[in-house]
Amino acid sequence: MCSASAVEAWVSGTWTHSHNHSSLTPPNWLPIGPNEKKGKGREIPEAAERTKDSAGGLNMENLLLQLQRRLFPLLGLLLSFLFVFLSRSSPKVSDRSECSLLPHSHYWIASNRIVTTQGVVSGAVEVKEGKIASVVKGEDWKGDSRTKQIIDYGDAVVMPGLVDVHVHLDDPGRTEWEGFPSGTKAAAAGGITTLIDMPLNSFPSTVSSETLRLKTEAATDNIYVDVGFWGGLVPENAFNATSLEALLSAGALGLKSFMCPSGINDFPMTNASHIKAGLAVLAKYKRPLLVHAEMEQDAQANYLEDGMNNDPRSYSTYLRTRPPSWEEAAIRELLTVSGDTAPGGPAEGAHLHVVHLSDAASSLQLLKEAKGSGHSVTVETCPHYLAFSSEEIEDGDTRFKCSPPIRDAANREILWKAVLEGDIDMLSSDHSPSVPELKLREEGNFLKAWGGISSLQFVLPVTWSHGRKYGVSLEQVALWWSERPAKLSGQESKGSIAVRKQADIVVWEPDVEFFLNEDHPTYLKHPSISAYMGTKLTGKVLATFVRGNLVYGDGKHASAACGATLLSKVPVDV
Ligand SMILES: [Zn+2]
Repeated sequence: MCSASAVEAWVSGTWTHSHNHSSLTPPNWLPIGPNEKKGKGREIPEAAERTKDSAGGLNMENLLLQLQRRLFPLLGLLLSFLFVFLSRSSPKVSDRSECSLLPHSHYWIASNRIVTTQGVVSGAVEVKEGKIASVVKGEDWKGDSRTKQIIDYGDAVVMPGLVDVHVHLDDPGRTEWEGFPSGTKAAAAGGITTLIDMPLNSFPSTVSSETLRLKTEAATDNIYVDVGFWGGLVPENAFNATSLEALLSAGALGLKSFMCPSGINDFPMTNASHIKAGLAVLAKYKRPLLVHAEMEQDAQANYLEDGMNNDPRSYSTYLRTRPPSWEEAAIRELLTVSGDTAPGGPAEGAHLHVVHLSDAASSLQLLKEAKGSGHSVTVETCPHYLAFSSEEIEDGDTRFKCSPPIRDAANREILWKAVLEGDIDMLSSDHSPSVPELKLREEGNFLKAWGGISSLQFVLPVTWSHGRKYGVSLEQVALWWSERPAKLSGQESKGSIAVRKQADIVVWEPDVEFFLNEDHPTYLKHPSISAYMGTKLTGKVLATFVRGNLVYGDGKHASAACGATLLSKVPVDV
């Protein structure tokens, strides 16, 4: 195991970054913030000191001199007080020291591997007031930056921060499952700079403008990365355009619905007519509908026929209860309404996004056909479908239970091919934790255990560790994890390293391996339920910047949770 830790050293105005250096010593630059602030305050005793200097003389010249000598220090004292007062009352200065591990608002991030929209370049990214001010290739930036702050990450990769469009943080209402503070700390430590929270598994579900308000209130001051929210499309609001419009006007980035029971009582499933009605409203707002595409075909019992191994501790038993035909049936049904989103269709402007595709056969083929017909459709899959296969899952290991289920190794190969060839557009975590008790680890009953993979902090190294075998490039990782998900969620100012974009950046070392065990710093509320625990991964996150704030660096988080809640604005023509 290699526990390389990033060590930054302040060297004549430049942070150099030393790799392969194992140390737990805090980086030298961390204390700069407080010192710098105090430095301004030191003018006070200096000014007071000078008031002792005075020489007497009775002529006018002396009097003036004396006045000058007495008044100037007093003026200095006054100015010092004013300065200290202003720096304390200015939110920008005081906030930065808590929101960011870096005390500067204008600095450069240098690296030999910066993943930009124009390819991987060597050079530096100039960050100013939370945005990317310039991206300079080669050595040119060095002249410009002589007087500025530089963090040189050497060969570490500087990439756009991940945008995870599928996360269940269960807040408010089920914070014992995860919650905004632990979930977003884990996201920051994993290089995720923006996540979009799902409308279910929290309580109440986010299906109205009132429940969206509860979400944003729960998130405010509790998030370490930026967080947006999907609203829920459920039978209760699907035919109520006023209610849906209120939810979208309140800032929901889009809607999410289920075509099978969600497992959450206040989030019932929808059918094609609900979805058609939802798309018509979404079209006005130009926002997407995300769909869990599985449809029950037969009663679960039909798959558990006599003579088969029906042991509920066996993964193959669970796998038989949710065959690929469930996904295929749901997608066939979706395609009866997805044509509405095509140019000239009744829901032009809306978009349909199929979440967590697992079936790489017929379901994938149907989606390709819909895209080919001009329907506005995209699809995601998740790292667990790309990392694991049903053959490897041991009896009773319910950490691997999710729906749709993880299928066999042959299916995984085709999923990878689809991701590499662009038939699957993007990746998301579908981080869906619960309390350990609901995972029924002791009993190991796959049929009764809570379904959901806990993964948020590890998706970047998981994607990279497995993707490397398929020759995945850094640009592809950025496309699947940043650029396309930012577009889906309407975050035009995020998702790539380019001028004027927000400075949402992850710095990571793609060659550093680590063993994910109890000793590994993990910020999820219940790391023990993660299917990735006990595995070896490649790709270590060194630093995460959100809108220019260094929110995670060298194993530490910024002291304050300064993530923003991302609410969509109503288009002007609505
Ligand atoms: Zn989900």
